Amino acid sequence: MVQIPPPGLTAFGPDFPFAFDEWLDHEAGLGSVPDHVMGSEIAIVGGGVAGMVAGYELMKLGLKPIIYEISRMGGRLRSVPFPKSPGVVAELGGMRFPLSGSSLWKYIDMLGLESRPFPNPLSETAGSTVVELAGEAHFARSMDDLPAIFHEVANAWETALEDDANLGQIQAAMANRDAAEVHRLWDPIVKRWDDRTFYDFIATSPEFSRLSYRHREVFGQVGFGTGGWDSDFPNSMLEILRVVMAAFEDDQRYIVGGAEKIPRGIWAHEPDSLVGHRAGTSLSGLNGGVTRPGVTAIARGADGQFDVTDRWGRTSSFPAVLVTTQSWLMTTSIDVEESLFSHKVWMALDRTRYMPSSKTFVMVDRPFWNDIDPQTGRPMMSMTLTDRNTRGTYLLDNGPDQPAVILLSYAWQSDAMKLLSMNASDRAELALDALAAIYPNTDVRSHIVGEPITVSWETDPDFLGAFKSAMPGHYRYNHRMYSHFMQADNPPAQRGIFIAGDDVSWTPGWAEGAVQTALNAVWGIVNHLGGASHPNNPGPGDVFAEFGPVALPDD
Ligand SMILES: Cc1cc2nc3c(=O)[nH]c(=O)nc-3n(C[C@H](O)[C@H](O)[C@H](O)COP(=O)(O)OP(=O)(O)OC[C@H]3O[C@@H](n4cnc5c(N)ncnc54)[C@H](O)[C@@H]3O)c2cc1C
Repeated sequence: MVQIPPPGLTAFGPDFPFAFDEWLDHEAGLGSVPDHVMGSEIAIVGGGVAGMVAGYELMKLGLKPIIYEISRMGGRLRSVPFPKSPGVVAELGGMRFPLSGSSLWKYIDMLGLESRPFPNPLSETAGSTVVELAGEAHFARSMDDLPAIFHEVANAWETALEDDANLGQIQAAMANRDAAEVHRLWDPIVKRWDDRTFYDFIATSPEFSRLSYRHREVFGQVGFGTGGWDSDFPNSMLEILRVVMAAFEDDQRYIVGGAEKIPRGIWAHEPDSLVGHRAGTSLSGLNGGVTRPGVTAIARGADGQFDVTDRWGRTSSFPAVLVTTQSWLMTTSIDVEESLFSHKVWMALDRTRYMPSSKTFVMVDRPFWNDIDPQTGRPMMSMTLTDRNTRGTYLLDNGPDQPAVILLSYAWQSDAMKLLSMNASDRAELALDALAAIYPNTDVRSHIVGEPITVSWETDPDFLGAFKSAMPGHYRYNHRMYSHFMQADNPPAQRGIFIAGDDVSWTPGWAEGAVQTALNAVWGIVNHLGGASHPNNPGPGDVFAEFGPVALPDD
């Protein structure tokens, strides 16, 4: 629904406009460490994409990253095979990756993974979409087929973004990679919108306030592309603006065979060029083919190093440690010595707030939804957005007559909480009943093979939530966490432990943000060990004083 972004637009900011993709591409590499630390083991807690990216880049610089993972490698890029057809997967976490997430795509391309356009609502790939609101269903092959109210909402949203958030100019500055201009335009928005919610933006925008309450409801349902945006209404407006500015809702692709191939691929990948290790070295090789167990404690040892203790009681000592788990785990399941972070940082780590999210999948015998309903002349089923509790239903085709997947329900916030006590079968039944009300002529059940697969990330003790979703007033917490890799001014007791990952990022819920924070941590660790970037290829920390995120006062 949003205007076409300018060519070349990537997630270059807006908070920290730094070209991570160019840093990665540069022939000089990401820097170097002194000879005496070459080969040093660095602890990386968490085997998701952030841990793997950081580990991979540190390995290329001659260090020996040791990856600790408590459960399944891949973290929130989790692709679970259906037992009856293991080539067919349910994407429990990240499933659609915008091309503007250019750092993540460096790794996807490095691994040569096949990707295809994701069938988002109203996209050409989806073929058709049904939007059902308040019992009224609208069938559409594109936005043009929807009634006038949807167009009024789309226009109001575009105008509000232009008038209240300077969208066009900021996107142009991001596309041009003009860091100073991005700051000039974005920083006043940070100050203006940190305290205010997404709903506030909608309710008070002159464009929307001319329209009816019903328009807001429609917007909450259809949003600006992927649906379900009323779940985000209580969030800080800044979170929404970042997604729009970086065009994360556009040009999204999925990874054939599953997104988990990204972290697993990085783990196994042997870089063409690396220092200090023999050719053919990979993270997997350095770690003996297996990650270490979950971490239970991190403390400063008597020698000033970090003592990392795993679940079986083995303690190893490291000069630096990178924690990529959800930050809440550092005050719940991992015993992290309090003196390692300032109280202000602890406050941020703990006040961070997570979005609950659930997904329920079934495998079906074939993409039967492409059959034409003789009564309506339309496909038997379409990509579906509804105010019923399924919220978003996605149809994932693997080719004609091949087993296919239906993501029956992708829900967030209170829609996800309603399902918490239900098992997979009950969740699937609930979703199928909702879909039967929308498609009375379609018997989905008769196509299902095997058992449903479901997830609620908030019930998993290794995550406690799906991804960060900042509340109004949380900018300063985000800022403390994001900037934590800049440690030169910290007291010595607070140096050498680093954080990265989804909830450290400015764009939680998007793997690109996790990758960017991992690269910040690489810079931080290299500098902590006495290394530096190559002068021809300054890293994020080298330009942070000039282009880092605007600071808001605490006092
Ligand atoms: C439902 C959902 C939908 C999403 N959709 C998208 C999408 O469409 N597109 C997109 O780009 N992004 C999406 N995301 C976000 C994306 O998945 C994340 O940004 C990314 O996977 C986070 O990577 P990470 O490495 O920061 O964290 P994680 O992947 O969570 O990695 C952290 C790891 O730490 C491990 N761990 C926890 N405790 C310990 C311990 N004590 N010791 C050792 N290891 C531990 C965990 O098991 C986990 O593997 C989605 C996420 C979810 C949950």
